[in-house]
Amino acid sequence: MDLGEGLRMAIARLTNATIIDSKTIKEFNKALQKTLLSADVEVQLVFSLTKTIEEKALKSKPPKGLPQRDYITNIVYEELVKLMGGSYTPELKPKRIILAGLYGSGKTTTAAKLAKFYQDRGFSAGLICCDVSRPAAYEQLETLAKQANVAFFGIKGESDAAKIAKEGVKSLSSKKVIICDTSGRSALDSGLVSELVRVSKAFNPDEKILVISADMGQTASKQASEFDKAIGISGIILTKTDGSAKGGGALSAASAAHANVMFLGTGEKIGDLHPYDSAKFIGNLLGVPDIEALSKTVEKAIAEAGIKPEEMESEELNFETFYSQLKAMGKMGSLKSVFGMMGAPDVPKEMLEKGEDKLKLYHTIISSMTKAERQNERLLHEPGRIQRIARGSGTSEKDVREMISEFNKMKKIFNTFKNDRSFRKKFAKFM
Ligand code: GDP
Ligand code: MG
Repeated sequence: MDLGEGLRMAIARLTNATIIDSKTIKEFNKALQKTLLSADVEVQLVFSLTKTIEEKALKSKPPKGLPQRDYITNIVYEELVKLMGGSYTPELKPKRIILAGLYGSGKTTTAAKLAKFYQDRGFSAGLICCDVSRPAAYEQLETLAKQANVAFFGIKGESDAAKIAKEGVKSLSSKKVIICDTSGRSALDSGLVSELVRVSKAFNPDEKILVISADMGQTASKQASEFDKAIGISGIILTKTDGSAKGGGALSAASAAHANVMFLGTGEKIGDLHPYDSAKFIGNLLGVPDIEALSKTVEKAIAEAGIKPEEMESEELNFETFYSQLKAMGKMGSLKSVFGMMGAPDVPKEMLEKGEDKLKLYHTIISSMTKAERQNERLLHEPGRIQRIARGSGTSEKDVREMISEFNKMKKIFNTFKNDRSFRKKFAKFM
């Protein structure tokens, strides 16, 4: 289970609870602790977070008109955003950036991503390969530079990184943003430090950025402070946040250590680099980019859809309720992530995205049924009924059969929900 899924499941406990009291909050906090710890968030940070949530949720009252559940969800959201630190707005101006980091942290890839980032914003960019230890480092950066459509400088076979940096700055002097990629090591050692110091002196950077892989988890802060002591860093870029469950651990540790998280690497492609914003990070984890707008959206969607919780509670699905349910489901389509937060099993996409035309057709067919038929699907198996309904509604038998099959699909889902921790009750409660 990844961090996002864990958080959504934990929040589902709150949204599913009939009453929210200290027991509910404690259970919620336990689930939250478990998921944060498994994302490698430091124990002390986790406990202080859940303590704050408990205090705020139990000792303060929601503002008038705001349901307690929404109020507490908001507290949780805000505390998570705080835990994961701040946000970064890259300064758009000419500059020189040097990247440092251990082997495989993603330096070379990030160098190209960063060059593209600035060039896309109107600052012509160039890359210098100062990695003199890795075989084929030159070719790797050259290829990436081509992909990013930015300038490239390197001296094949040269072992003096400082010399390359000096020549590179001269050769790329027409470029507004120059980025220097450096050698890595398996650990920070004196050899790497002295090389970085020498290259840095020759290159004279405005920013020294440490590149760290998200799978470092909470040890990211130790690495950041060691590099900071050795060479002085302006901030960090956390890579591979797409592939590691420990991104939350790395971010919270960096935030606690006051390390400036500048960008997140979110994939292998050249465009997968984004300035860091903890609110966005948490929003994406929860599956709702803008959680503050969530409750409003939910209320609006429910009002528009005309969902009747009492019908959801009724034990049997029949054609009288089928139409309104289908309509409601369609209106809920944009709220798929909400289902996730309710801890619901995945609702089939086609059920959430039933087109208006289909709905109209079904409505016409249902109107042509007798009351008894609407309440008892089995009657439709008697000979002649489908024919009669098709004729009466001006549709084809095929249409009627298709609707019946859709009905049976939904019925199956309803039954699954009923058996699967009573989805319909949760749904009704959620509203
Ligand atoms: P370096 O040794 O620090 O220069 O690391 P590289 O730039 O060569 O990257 C090592 C590997 O990590 C490569 O296979 C990259 O494609 C991959 N990588 C780098 N950044 C990311 C990222 O944000 N997400 C993913 N999924 N892979 C990445
Ligand atoms: Mg490299």
